[in-house]
Amino acid sequence: MSRTGARVERQPLARYTTLGVGGEAEIWFVETLEQLAEAMEQPYRVLGGGSNLVISDAGVPERVIRLSGPLAERDLTPDPELSTDAEIVTGWVGGGAPLPGLLRALQKLGWSGLEGTVGIPGQVGGSVWMNAGTRFGEMFDGLHTIEIVTPQGVRQVSPDDLAWGYRHSDIPRNHVVSRVRLKLRPSTPDAVQEAMNQADLARKGQPKNKTPGCAFKNPTLPDGHKVSAGKLIDEAGLKGTRVGNAMIAPEHGNFIVNLGGATAADVHALLGLIRERVGVPLELEYELWPAADAT
Ligand SMILES: Cc1cc2nc3c(=O)[nH]c(=O)nc-3n(C[C@H](O)[C@H](O)[C@H](O)COP(=O)(O)OP(=O)(O)OC[C@H]3O[C@@H](n4cnc5c(N)ncnc54)[C@H](O)[C@@H]3O)c2cc1C
Repeated sequence: MSRTGARVERQPLARYTTLGVGGEAEIWFVETLEQLAEAMEQPYRVLGGGSNLVISDAGVPERVIRLSGPLAERDLTPDPELSTDAEIVTGWVGGGAPLPGLLRALQKLGWSGLEGTVGIPGQVGGSVWMNAGTRFGEMFDGLHTIEIVTPQGVRQVSPDDLAWGYRHSDIPRNHVVSRVRLKLRPSTPDAVQEAMNQADLARKGQPKNKTPGCAFKNPTLPDGHKVSAGKLIDEAGLKGTRVGNAMIAPEHGNFIVNLGGATAADVHALLGLIRERVGVPLELEYELWPAADAT
């Protein structure tokens, strides 16, 4: 236990990532802003759902902060002062709350605004930080207030106070999205489900488990055309290629999957092989911890 009561444990990070890879670190499970402030007294990293990360087999030397307890819960009660007939402003949703569970709850309530993010397996905080989304919608479509914690203190901002764009917000790295209030439109459960089904259809054929999602961003060729990274990898004949226990998914070239017991080294070897064989500069979609591992 830390001074302020945070649970602190040395654990393999693999169990907190969707890829299932990553060595040990000291994990701080913080449940209050006071515990978060204490965790930030030393060098730290913030871990969300681990769905966009490839973490080194040696782990990381910094503290790893994981939002837990009340900072991972959601209060969807409409705020009577901020809500109108046309707009629902919710109570606070913890940055550590899983996005899929939130979307299921919003579908049942028939509240529209975030259905374009269906199928993204991250947490709310990590997904806001990088404005996760699809061509059907993104996180910043449904935000009213964002609470951001830094070693200097806590501030609550409107999305209008920030700049954001394609898979990006200007919330600096290691500023923690601790909670958000959502801004949604009243609709019906059926209509929200239908919109989710549409967004989900676009994922047909993509692996959903034991992967950190798409490996590379779609590159722009010298002639100005954007091409699908998956198509390039497919054309290079790499689908199904295996290094150790990691494999380029046979069903979609831009996904690397862990067959069980894969290491970060296996994944890096595959990323290197793809770059070498595709012959077009490819920018990584997911984040490497530590970045020095970059291939
Ligand atoms: C099967 C699959 C499908 C995917 N599909 C999509 C998709 O369609 N669109 C898309 O955009 N992404 C997609 N992703 C990638 C990923 O799910 C998203 O980027 C997600 O938003 C990452 O959130 P996370 O909580 O898992 O963050 P993590 O992977 O844990 O961390 C990613 C970054 O966010 C930071 N971070 C985490 N939590 C916080 C916080 N509370 N405050 C501040 N910073 C934080 C971390 O420090 C790190 O820099 C997919 C991934 C998988 C595995």
